[in-house]
Amino acid sequence: MANKINKIAVFTSGGDSPGMNAAIRSVVRTCAYMKIECVAIYRGYQGMIDGDFKEMNARSVNNIINKGGTILKSARCEEFRTPEGRKAAYEQLRKEGVDAFVVIGGNGSFAGALKFNEEFNFPVMGIPGTIDNDILGTSYTLGFDTAINTVVEAIDKIRDTASSHNRLFFVEVMGRDVGHIALNAGVGAGAEEILIPEQNLGLERLLDSLKRSKKSGKSSSIVIVAEGDKTGKNVFELKDYVETHLPIYDVRVSVLGHMQRGGNPTCFDRVLASRMGVKSVEALLEGKSNYMVGIRDNKLILTPIAEAIKAHTPVDEELIRVSDIMTT
Ligand code: ATP
Repeated sequence: MANKINKIAVFTSGGDSPGMNAAIRSVVRTCAYMKIECVAIYRGYQGMIDGDFKEMNARSVNNIINKGGTILKSARCEEFRTPEGRKAAYEQLRKEGVDAFVVIGGNGSFAGALKFNEEFNFPVMGIPGTIDNDILGTSYTLGFDTAINTVVEAIDKIRDTASSHNRLFFVEVMGRDVGHIALNAGVGAGAEEILIPEQNLGLERLLDSLKRSKKSGKSSSIVIVAEGDKTGKNVFELKDYVETHLPIYDVRVSVLGHMQRGGNPTCFDRVLASRMGVKSVEALLEGKSNYMVGIRDNKLILTPIAEAIKAHTPVDEELIRVSDIMTT
């Protein structure tokens, strides 16, 4: 039988994403509701090793549901990858009287939690916090909805200037390994072409599409390029390539960069974070461990972390088809 849990730690790890604060708030308030103690850890696994803890109560998380980033700071920590680092972290948790933790982060943070559980039989629960939406076992990760709305808003603005000057814009968005942001924001913003890591459409197709677009009388075009697209060219090289082969186009590049990670979370991300926070604490109190909280068909589900970190969520084939049809 699992030991009784009296104190839960919560922290954020890896890349930050909008909605992390709402998730921290939810974990802290659920602990208060359940009348168990809660402690926050600053700077992820690094703070765990350093003993950078703070006791939390329901009032410690006032006025953060609307804030982007993470009040607990995030960090990458090489030391935690070593058995010595994890042992030091375990000793700090024991010293603090922590019985279980909730980690809000991505695949790497979950892999670390899993290893930690294997070594110390310590109960762990994961909440997927990343704008990339690439974690198996959930239709949405925290921050994805905010990020695609940020991208759509930026592209709407770029479109205004693009159409005033009959220009073609290449807009680079985040997504080294997966194209969820590019595909969703691209369809939402009415992009001409969407280049994602999962598909190599080839440069010929891009030129054909742009030629067709010009012929059909479109005054401007937006091409979304995920960071990890497979054309073998970055956005600036794509600009040069198109200008060389289609001199009719006046091409500009916009790299959206880290603005995609920031900003106030959307209502969707706040609600999702609140739900996931409650579920994570409830699951730990039910004696569960090594799960990630996810959402599917608007129902919260638990997926073993070992499954969640196995692969990236594939892009939606139906959405690719919709995108193809919309660009005719
Ligand atoms: P993002 O999706 O933004 O990259 P992430 O959680 O995947 O977020 P990582 O940098 O991969 O971010 O991992 C965060 C931290 O988790 C690492 O700095 C390290 O401390 C820990 N970690 C990652 N992988 C492992 C592992 N295999 N074993 C132990 N710890 C790990």
